[in-house]
Amino acid sequence: MVESVTDDIRALISDMFETMYAAEGIGLAAPQVGRTERVTVMDVEGAKYALINPEIVAHQGTVRGEEGCLSIPDIFGEVDRATSVTVRAVDENGRDIEVEGSELLARCLQHEIDHLHGKLFLDYLSVLKRRAALAKWDKFKADYPGYIRKVALERHGAHHSEGEL
Ligand SMILES: [Zn+2]
Repeated sequence: MVESVTDDIRALISDMFETMYAAEGIGLAAPQVGRTERVTVMDVEGAKYALINPEIVAHQGTVRGEEGCLSIPDIFGEVDRATSVTVRAVDENGRDIEVEGSELLARCLQHEIDHLHGKLFLDYLSVLKRRAALAKWDKFKADYPGYIRKVALERHGAHHSEGEL
């Protein structure tokens, strides 16, 4: 948990936005850049979010959709998520906020909050599908030296879904 929102946290948030945009992702969580704070940033359909200590407090429905992740680029899988969620968090000014999201925003919120709990979308796949995804990633990962892919290395694949998270 982030105890108080310091300049250090604000600097982390701004670095994370920069990293996320450089990688052309729509969401990024602190563990993806080697930090342990419960912080995530998102830019979903033009709306920017910086959430500290986010927790899902309500959810509705289930929808299956394709997901990717900047930490394991070019690997995609079908994941069931709540259709809509309500998230409580603290913003970069230390204020309590509530975010309600549906569809892509809901998916992104769930994906990023999972990262803060050490969970990847791969964990939702069947054993066989996860094994196939990891085998594929094993071949690719030498091309991705950092925590997330480098922009120069992308666009070699034709596949681009709604965005990696
Ligand atoms: Zn991710």
